[in-house]
Amino acid sequence: MAQQMQALVLHGVGDARYGAVPRPGVPAGWVLVRVAFCGVCGSDIPRVFVKGTYRFPTICGHEFAGTVAETGSSVDDYAIGDRVAVFPLLWCGKCAACEQGRYVQCEDYDYLGSRRDGAFAEYVAAPRQNLLRVPDGVSFEEAAMTEPAAVALHALRRGGCKAGDAAAIFGAGPIGLMAAQWARIMGASRILIFDIDPAKLDIARRCGFANLYNSAERNPVDVIREVTAGRGAHIAIEAAGVPQTTVQALDAVRDSGRVVLLGNPSGDVTLPAALISRAMRREITIAGTWNSTYSARGGDDDWRTALDAMASGALRLKPLITHIVPLDQAWETLKNIRGKAGVFSKVLIQP
Ligand SMILES: [Zn+2]
Ligand SMILES: [Zn+2]
Repeated sequence: MAQQMQALVLHGVGDARYGAVPRPGVPAGWVLVRVAFCGVCGSDIPRVFVKGTYRFPTICGHEFAGTVAETGSSVDDYAIGDRVAVFPLLWCGKCAACEQGRYVQCEDYDYLGSRRDGAFAEYVAAPRQNLLRVPDGVSFEEAAMTEPAAVALHALRRGGCKAGDAAAIFGAGPIGLMAAQWARIMGASRILIFDIDPAKLDIARRCGFANLYNSAERNPVDVIREVTAGRGAHIAIEAAGVPQTTVQALDAVRDSGRVVLLGNPSGDVTLPAALISRAMRREITIAGTWNSTYSARGGDDDWRTALDAMASGALRLKPLITHIVPLDQAWETLKNIRGKAGVFSKVLIQP
């Protein structure tokens, strides 16, 4: 009989159960990872409570790090006990995007934690080519946040953030605050952060940011104009996915400014004709961003940059952690996040 493990298994929309399931098998070229921590992504809440996964039952959780527990045949460069972070997208390796190494545009991908079993469990199986070593000095808690940190970095790269920029960040959730930190690392001179939740602005303060504004009290566009002598921001990051902040981000940038759409949209956005006209005259650039770059051959990518910035201390992720909960309490916690029963920034599940 297969060995058992504890997991939080999603059996249907809004129906997750904690219990014992068989440990995943380890095919050739794959490894079994003992999960140390798995973060709750903003996308997990609608996935679990509204949209569901591609099939049931599924184990969710795609932001994780841990140690190698078993190696499949033909894996000779990882040993049991090695500390790893895992790129959760499993690319097909055959399509045109894969041939160019653009795995997130793969036409036939699989995904740990949504299309196949992920890491709200003691163990998860992953291909060896999806593993990265966690540098010394980077904790498992931090390493479990490599995925969102890489996603935030990718957004700033898509927006061409550079030294001296005035950057406006809409949304002070974990991704927004990681984006703000990348803006700081890239040399932005002014970083203005907007949210309607004072508790989230407090977490931003703990990350070392000072220019924090409650957009329920002051119109962000007015604030940005005031701070930039009427010119607007060089770059605006929409990290809330809210129609109103999308409109504000488009209105917040100066001539040749860049707007990056990062937050998962929560509704349709209506753009006033006058705003479109201003965006045209200003020749602004709107950039979509999706996921992050990952190199299977050890080249520069968003993942390695994120782990390196954690190791150097440039990227400080610990202030974002508001909760660390054992796996048997994960379901209760997910319900509390959904019901907004408490202040949640980054929540880590510890199986
Ligand atoms: Zn995520
Ligand atoms: Zn592909």
